Amino acid sequence: MVARPVDGELRGARLRLVEALREKGIRDLSVLRAFEMTPRHMFVPTGLRHRAYEDAPLPIGSGQTISQPWVHARYLELLHLTGKERVLEIGTGSGYQTVLLAHLVAQVFSIERIPALMQQARENIRRAGVNNVSVLLGDGTIGWREYAPYDAILVSAGAPSIPQPLLDQLAEGGRLLIPVGDREEQKLVVAERKNGQITMRDEAPVRFVPLLGSHGWNGDAGGTGGA
Ligand code: SAM
Repeated sequence: MVARPVDGELRGARLRLVEALREKGIRDLSVLRAFEMTPRHMFVPTGLRHRAYEDAPLPIGSGQTISQPWVHARYLELLHLTGKERVLEIGTGSGYQTVLLAHLVAQVFSIERIPALMQQARENIRRAGVNNVSVLLGDGTIGWREYAPYDAILVSAGAPSIPQPLLDQLAEGGRLLIPVGDREEQKLVVAERKNGQITMRDEAPVRFVPLLGSHGWNGDAGGTGGA
């Protein structure tokens, strides 16, 4: 009952964010519509809700961040989604991008390694009212073999190199987006499987928190404050 006026109030801020994304070059109407439908203020800590519709990354706890909306939008645009895809996301974080994806594809599978974030993300995703998301607590660098292959794989953390299990779980015609570089800065790499062959191209410089795991960076270091 109390939430409704607040949600209504923030709808204006959400529409301004959508307009800002359009002005920054995001053209895919279905991506813009997903941003309009997804209440980012429900995915950030309560004390940061007043900043939820800034085009900026924000801390979500456990040393991690919810990425800048423009970064999410560009990622989603690069996937050229049609609505029929099965998508694997590595790095659920707050669950915000998971819900954006849920509005754009048939089925989302998402993996997070930090239990506290996964618990909060499960709740956020439930409150967002989408029912085409499955989540897993674990090391996303080994993928989720049970439901493979995937039409698209999005990695939301920076890797030293592309984890082989993720390439193995990419469907024919599928796309994998992953930041590759050092712990501070990476290049967004787009890998595609065509006729059984993997082709790769660098898209843009990006800054993501490290992808930790058996096919990522070692150790238990937290994020670096990137996207
Ligand atoms: N897209 C998310 C959102 O909308 O809130 C933010 C993702 S945040 C930039 C990166 C996430 O990747 C962090 O939550 C981090 O714990 C997670 N991560 C890092 N290494 C991982 C791994 N091996 N498996 C699963 N998640 C991992």
